[in-house]
Amino acid sequence: MSFRHHPLLVLTLALPACLHAQDREPTIPPPSIVEYHPRSRLVVPEHLVPRAKYPAVDVHGHPPLLNDAATISRVVAAMDSLNLGVIVQAIGTSGERLTRQIEAVKAAGQADRFVFFTTLDLGFVQRGDGQRLAEQLRRDVAAGAVGIGEINKGFGLSARGPDGSRLHLDDPELDVVWETAADLGIPVFIHTADPAAFFEPLDFTNERWLEMALFPNRQFNDRSRFPTFETLMAERERLIAKHPRTTWILAHLGWYADDLGKLGQLFDRYPNVTAEVGAILYDLGRQPRTARDFFVKYQDRLLFGKDSFRPEEYPYYWRVFETEDEYFDYYRDYHAFWKLYGMGLPDPVLRKLYYGNALRIIPNMPRRPFPVR
Ligand SMILES: [Zn+2]
Repeated sequence: MSFRHHPLLVLTLALPACLHAQDREPTIPPPSIVEYHPRSRLVVPEHLVPRAKYPAVDVHGHPPLLNDAATISRVVAAMDSLNLGVIVQAIGTSGERLTRQIEAVKAAGQADRFVFFTTLDLGFVQRGDGQRLAEQLRRDVAAGAVGIGEINKGFGLSARGPDGSRLHLDDPELDVVWETAADLGIPVFIHTADPAAFFEPLDFTNERWLEMALFPNRQFNDRSRFPTFETLMAERERLIAKHPRTTWILAHLGWYADDLGKLGQLFDRYPNVTAEVGAILYDLGRQPRTARDFFVKYQDRLLFGKDSFRPEEYPYYWRVFETEDEYFDYYRDYHAFWKLYGMGLPDPVLRKLYYGNALRIIPNMPRRPFPVR
């Protein structure tokens, strides 16, 4: 019998090109999306990483407000166990709320473990506010702030301008603020939009279906209320282009973690852009080879950041960055239905990601926690 006429081959060729379960019905009631949690049968080497290999700066830190000794010592104990050298307090505060935290960490003897960003009230911007905010910025930096942020996604999604319409990210009223940040030599840490999937229709092809269904306030797909993802990305790029002397830190890899090529283009066009990795680990962990190449190529532009301060979640980051482990669980199942893989970053890249780039970009960073002169 010739190969061509082998019965199994004939059978295979006779099947439709794309064989879906939809061609059959489950013979027992299927579980719902929230019930189905298959346990992986895969047995491969595991390398848990409770402590980062090098002391890290969390540039996207959201510990509680550091106003009292008990809170500060609780946060420092968690930092020590994770090998976090410094947390950037990115719950930006201004005026008395800022100085109170700075004084409290000094009084607790922990001034070399925390730095503080200031904040800008951008909810309703009126004519003349730019100048006022720039003056506030100068005062807060004089008081010890070393950056602006986190500027949250409301800037772009819901903030209003003088005429009551949506305030565009590149509104000229705020030019003086971004130029003042450049004059002061401080970075602007900005969160724009949200995952692109949140701007898409909520149907059963949306890979963030569960998260959007659990958190209706993460649905930005109503075009009568919100701009498109692409509109916000274009506005952000005009803002960056308009202020080439200002150092921008894009939160969450600028929400391009699922399309690193776009982030690479942004890095190539604008040397003043950097980005941090908070809350997008699920995207790096599903493309370990592409992400590794990207992190090697852009090793001077990437910063470690975590976002929510949950100490038990940091080791997932260390494991993805430092190991080549395969097919392991992520910590939040509504972010991602998939498993993670380690990127196995080379040591020089890890050092830059964990602390080198932060020490370069953020002024007045404490040096003591890090292996640098
Ligand atoms: Zn944040």
